[in-house]
Amino acid sequence: MSEYLLETCVGTKCVGCGSCMAVCPQDAITVKTRSSLVQPTIDKSKCSRCDLCTENCSAFRNMYLEPTKPDFSRIIGRPLQTYIGFATSNLIRTNGASGGVTTALLTYLLDEEIIDYVVTAYQEKLVAQPLTITESKDLFKAQGSIYFPSFITKAARQIISEKGKCAFVGLPCQISSLRRLEAKSKKLRERIHIYLGLFCSHTNEYWYLRYLSSRYSGVRCYPLTVSSRHGKWPGSTTLETSCGSVTIPHPKFWGPIPLLHLSSPIGCLYCDNHMNIHSDIALGDAWLPRKTAEDDAGTSTVIAHTERGLTIIEDAKKKGHINLKEITLRTLIQSQLGNIVAKYNGVPIRRAIVRRQYRSKILGKYTVNDMLIGLLPLINSYLGQKGELRHTLFKHRISEKTLSLYQTLMQKMLLKATPNTIKKLLRFVVETKDVGNANTDIRLRAQMKKTKR
Ligand SMILES: Cc1cc2nc3c(=O)[nH]c(=O)nc-3n(C[C@H](O)[C@H](O)[C@H](O)COP(=O)(O)OP(=O)(O)OC[C@H]3O[C@@H](n4cnc5c(N)ncnc54)[C@H](O)[C@@H]3O)c2cc1C
Ligand code: SF4
Ligand code: SF4
Ligand code: SF4
Repeated sequence: MSEYLLETCVGTKCVGCGSCMAVCPQDAITVKTRSSLVQPTIDKSKCSRCDLCTENCSAFRNMYLEPTKPDFSRIIGRPLQTYIGFATSNLIRTNGASGGVTTALLTYLLDEEIIDYVVTAYQEKLVAQPLTITESKDLFKAQGSIYFPSFITKAARQIISEKGKCAFVGLPCQISSLRRLEAKSKKLRERIHIYLGLFCSHTNEYWYLRYLSSRYSGVRCYPLTVSSRHGKWPGSTTLETSCGSVTIPHPKFWGPIPLLHLSSPIGCLYCDNHMNIHSDIALGDAWLPRKTAEDDAGTSTVIAHTERGLTIIEDAKKKGHINLKEITLRTLIQSQLGNIVAKYNGVPIRRAIVRRQYRSKILGKYTVNDMLIGLLPLINSYLGQKGELRHTLFKHRISEKTLSLYQTLMQKMLLKATPNTIKKLLRFVVETKDVGNANTDIRLRAQMKKTKR
């Protein structure tokens, strides 16, 4: 098994969660760069072949252990309450990735002494690191979204060894992994008071940073530091390169290369936990047409997944840290529809294929369009790992135009699958006992009609 992790998972599929480092009893795993991919490497002389790293590897679990049956509850969870809103402090709101709600909640938790410290990610130079923050004034510098592997689950050891309670901010794979570790460690269970989880489509391999600096600064330029995405919504990412500084607006950063999954770690293609279902509170961008058209200060969507999360949100609201209004689950789904359709249709196919279930009922049910939705991102991600393709991308700008055409084609495939997925989603929403509201129901149906045309 440990050989599997070293040769297959660590080598090419790693999503950068850091769980393997958290559990290794020999401290045998370190992060290294190989062929422009930053991934954990095992020091074989230290390794005792206990297999704990494989058992806890997010990529391995998503590929081989999670069910292949499509299921909205694995993408969305079973939310207790859903909201839209922003931090009441304008400074926090406009410095955040979306509406700054994450930082406003952390400020409330620290100021009210409900927790002693926060563990989150901080982009230092090129590689993100776990960061411990004890005073709310220092939360400001960690704001924004880091779209590269951060390995912060490795902080579990530090959390166990330190006294006091903390809030952990992380991606779905990181929080799911810590919840698994909690089942075995009472100390960890007691010390992490609250999980604030970010929604997650996927991260990006480090070679994408090199691509961005050569694309925006010049062919011979290389990246020195990268910021998180934050600032005036939808925000931007600043790259310091050997040729100077460049600021890339969010829609350009998430251009055809990440959207086609060329820069996505292969392991992310097997993950369907989009809305951080094991967190207490999950947070994302309010990608709703009205908001994106009108709002440049930033708005977040917020889910209370647990009673503890719900209590914290309501208290933070009462104490004036956040300005939130309740929305229906249907509106929340609307804000993430593209990702939900892509994951619901694509992930089960990819899991069935990697497990060689070629004759399974799962694969038999899908149309050619569904199969393409499942397979093309996987092929793209494999191609993105090839140095030759990256070389072509770096060298020939023209290929971006071709990629945009390819992306339009992919979008059409997703649109074709959308009405059918929406039908099933509406059933899921009813099952989840959403109180609902007629207007959002109508909007979702209108979207369905539009995609049929
Ligand atoms: C890789 C990634 C993919 C995402 N995909 C989606 C998506 O598809 N749809 C969507 O609506 N939203 C997505 N988000 C979430 C979104 O970008 C915002 O992070 C979220 O809305 C919270 O914004 P905020 O203004 O409340 O947070 P802020 O106040 O800006 O605080 C953000 C907090 O998150 C921490 N953080 C940032 N990046 C990471 C990271 N990589 N790992 C751990 N902690 C981190 C920061 O340290 C900070 O504490 C994604 C975020 C990431 C990092
Ligand atoms: S097999 Fe055990 S000792 Fe070896 S790297 Fe994995 S966790 Fe560490
Ligand atoms: S996916 Fe996570 S657990 Fe697996 S190798 Fe990468 S960092 Fe380690
Ligand atoms: S898509 Fe899933 S596996 Fe990939 S970084 Fe996000 S949560 Fe982790």
